[in-house]
Amino acid sequence: MADRPAFFASTISRNFIGWGGAFGTTCACCGRKIAAPWASQCQLVWCLYCGMEHGHVAMVEREFGAFPYGVTAEEARHV
Ligand SMILES: [Zn+2]
Repeated sequence: MADRPAFFASTISRNFIGWGGAFGTTCACCGRKIAAPWASQCQLVWCLYCGMEHGHVAMVEREFGAFPYGVTAEEARHV
């Protein structure tokens, strides 16, 4: 399952990058500019939109408040 994304990043993460918790990258699926945690640097990162489009992340926008910088594949399974 190497091609399964490990993290789904939101695009509203400028503050997150600001304090050094994330790095700027692009969605491996659509190329959208996103920010991902350093922990997922060597992993496949998608944006939340692609995650939802492909059914990896539940379509629940209200959950975004709980995940200001995105969700990991692990978290997405629990939503
Ligand atoms: Zn994308």
